[in-house]
Amino acid sequence: PPADPATAAAVKAADRAHVFHSWSAQELIDPLAVAGAEGSYFWDYDGNRYLDFTSGLVFTNIGYQHPRVVAAIQEQAAKLTTFAPAFAVEARSEAARLIAERTPGDLNKIFFTNGGAEAIENAVRMARLHTGRPKILSAYRSYHGATAAAINVTGDPRRWPSDSGTSGTVHFWAPFRYRSPFWSTSDAEEAERALRHLEDTIVFEGPSTVAAIVLETVPGTAGIMMPPPGYLPGVRELCDRYGIVLVLDEVMTGFGRTGKWFAAEHFGVVPDLLTFAKGVNSGYVPLGGVAISERIAATFATRPYPGGLTYSGHPLACAAAVATIRVMEDEGIVEQAARTGERIVGPGLRELAERHPSVGEVRGTGLFWALDLVRDRETREPLVPYNASGEANAPMAAFAAACKRGGLWPFVNMNRTHVVPPCTIGEAELKEGFAALDAALTVADGFMA
Ligand code: PLP
Repeated sequence: PPADPATAAAVKAADRAHVFHSWSAQELIDPLAVAGAEGSYFWDYDGNRYLDFTSGLVFTNIGYQHPRVVAAIQEQAAKLTTFAPAFAVEARSEAARLIAERTPGDLNKIFFTNGGAEAIENAVRMARLHTGRPKILSAYRSYHGATAAAINVTGDPRRWPSDSGTSGTVHFWAPFRYRSPFWSTSDAEEAERALRHLEDTIVFEGPSTVAAIVLETVPGTAGIMMPPPGYLPGVRELCDRYGIVLVLDEVMTGFGRTGKWFAAEHFGVVPDLLTFAKGVNSGYVPLGGVAISERIAATFATRPYPGGLTYSGHPLACAAAVATIRVMEDEGIVEQAARTGERIVGPGLRELAERHPSVGEVRGTGLFWALDLVRDRETREPLVPYNASGEANAPMAAFAAACKRGGLWPFVNMNRTHVVPPCTIGEAELKEGFAALDAALTVADGFMA
């Protein structure tokens, strides 16, 4: 598209005057004015195009502007744009059916929300009401959303400013081989020690006080750590033994991201509640939800569920979900994500790691990968300290700037970059992205000890 500096200036000026941005010091940010997007790319008004290795915030699993989903939204808008949640509406019924058919086990009922945090909020409420117990256990190195309960179960620094201190959440360490909290030397040892630590936490907190364990099936923003075999089945057993509800948060991992419809399938585990959002309709219209097991649904069979949202199961969002799921099915996008991860992304990133000493570890699956950047491969000291800002974060800022100079929009969190493009990305696009990563990793190498 031709450059359009006048529109860019107007968009930017109104943004700076009136838009209050998430997670930001308002006067220290400089948001890029975006003119459009398609597939794996977006572009600004000055003729610069970027390959999006972030999928927005890891939500455009089918890429931007998929024509079938855009058309489905247009058709639904013409037919019935909105309707209150207490009615049976075609798009909502169909979305619930398609989602329930794809979630594992007996997660057959869907409570719709507008996004991931509200899904966690309601899963926590359901678990507390179902068990009559107050506490929630969740992992350090996790993110579950920014509303009250969701930010309190979160295990990263974004919780600190909102920590109520009386939220009834208790944090424990989940497995992470590369930076093991358990000094393990094998996957088996990591899983076993992490499970012992979790059981100790339950026993010392008092099992009769614990309503739920909330875990990302594969922690996302916190670093994409695939749990070792045996861990999640072990957590399932602990939940069964102590009468605790297992909530798996698949807001980021769901709908193809890991090369399966849901990451729980990799581990053969069925949670009692599963939260989703993002990939359910690639974020084309805000939508999230909780998939509920028959047992927990039964708790609310004759007793009212005390929770709701004006836009629960919004027809426009649900029509987008129906179209997205059909597109993913028809185009084999989940299988494509698995294949692309195994054949192109994994090998491509490992090849970069061979040439760049700042890459401490490459880990992931499907279109869900992290490069853990270090100052020193032996000590594994992170390239920037935990929660670094300002000057201390300069190496990661320089890395990100180098990616952008190369036409790549990178996902950067602390000392990591995540490779999380749309699941539909092609080999040529990935090669282009890897070339930009290659140049940016040379910049990162320059900051090593
Ligand atoms: N849970 C996980 C695993 C997430 O990654 C996120 C968002 O990144 C959330 C919950 C919160 O979702 P939302 O931002 O839609 O409220």
